[in-house]
Amino acid sequence: MLWKLGDLIIANAERLAEIERRDNGKLATEVTAQVRYMGDYFKYYAGLADKVQGAVIPTDKKGVLTYTKYEAKGVVAIITPWNSPLTLTSWKLAPALAAGCTAVIKPSEFTSASMLEFAELFAQAGFPPGVVNVITGFGQEVGEPLVTHPQVAHIGFTGGDAAGRKIYELAARHLKTVTLELGGKSPNIVFDDADLQQAVKGVVSGIFAASGQSCQAGSRLLVQESIHDRFVSMLVDFVSQAKMGDPSLPDTQIGPIATRPQFEKVLSYIQIAKDEGATCVLGGKPRSDLGAGMFVEPTIFTGVNNRMRIAQEEVFGPVLSVIPFKDEEDAIRIGNDVQFGLAAAVWTRSLHRAMLVTDKIKAGTIWVNNYRATSFTSPFGGFKDSGIGRESGVDAIKEYLETKCLWVST
Ligand code: NAD
Repeated sequence: MLWKLGDLIIANAERLAEIERRDNGKLATEVTAQVRYMGDYFKYYAGLADKVQGAVIPTDKKGVLTYTKYEAKGVVAIITPWNSPLTLTSWKLAPALAAGCTAVIKPSEFTSASMLEFAELFAQAGFPPGVVNVITGFGQEVGEPLVTHPQVAHIGFTGGDAAGRKIYELAARHLKTVTLELGGKSPNIVFDDADLQQAVKGVVSGIFAASGQSCQAGSRLLVQESIHDRFVSMLVDFVSQAKMGDPSLPDTQIGPIATRPQFEKVLSYIQIAKDEGATCVLGGKPRSDLGAGMFVEPTIFTGVNNRMRIAQEEVFGPVLSVIPFKDEEDAIRIGNDVQFGLAAAVWTRSLHRAMLVTDKIKAGTIWVNNYRATSFTSPFGGFKDSGIGRESGVDAIKEYLETKCLWVST
């Protein structure tokens, strides 16, 4: 059934992507690729479903056979944000179903339509009624009762830090397990020996893809002092050529902000950065001449120090803070001096530097000389305030399983 669902997702990818794009304004090219990839994601977990196996355990108790088996936890509540509703649901749903769990999905109140369409595919794939359920509504009114419901065993949540903490508190009160994928303020660290052309492209995709509305956005650019001015000027030249506008057009590179509150939040952080004394070297304004939609220019601030709010708090928009550093030690110190630990990248031609820095940076995903590479086979999740647990890969299925130990005497 999981495999068949994968085929159905791929066959319906264009339609699902179009619904999602209309909901959150993401680029058509980006969201279509994401939805197609979801098909492969379900097939990967279809392949894992019959490879969940326990072990015979040697013990000091003679004449007793001791073995473990894994059992589904039960009902899983899946609560997701608006930036990538289908993908972020699949990251939880595919391993949960492969583990034998059932699910109740609550999508974001801003982007529920694609999930309701997606739900139609489960019957076609052969899942019995009730295995996958969708309930729409607001976080407090619908999300919280779901989290505290006695029949829900595990909560898989992706979203902001505040809601994540609230859900963790509620889950603790009811002794439920959680997987939390929260925010980020990821450092993109560029050393003077990097291939700067390659690094510029990586930094731009790191922060401006999805108009910065991405948990893994590389929103803090740490540049070695010796190349700071040159690199910033290369960056400004490159971003100035990006085409912003209608996300349905194939040549658009930067689209709008998804929601009115998010648009206002992004603009407020641009003002905060200016008030804090940072220098706006590109963008910094809303654009009302691009048709319907809430557009914010790709924005770059220099003169940022790591104590400023613009360097510490998640903006979730197209705003890059540039912070200079002296050497490896300085880069590691600034890179880690933040509450989050979702992702990071290091740009250098020196393997020694790459290994030194990646060893010390506290983040769940670290890229070297690339940004955003990801796969259904690799674990994703955060250190520190970026979350609890891991999604994707072989081990994600364990989040949805209980271990039972059996002792059998004749
Ligand atoms: P949000 O936290 O406001 O909402 C996320 C979901 O939680 C929504 O469905 C919402 O209705 C629900 N919710 C809110 N309060 C709740 C409560 N008290 N109880 C139960 N449910 C509740 O986040 P958002 O604004 O939709 O999304 C943006 C955030 O998501 C950013 O912080 C971003 O970093 C994060 N995000 C993280 C990842 C990741 O993998 N780490 C991926 C994408 C987005």
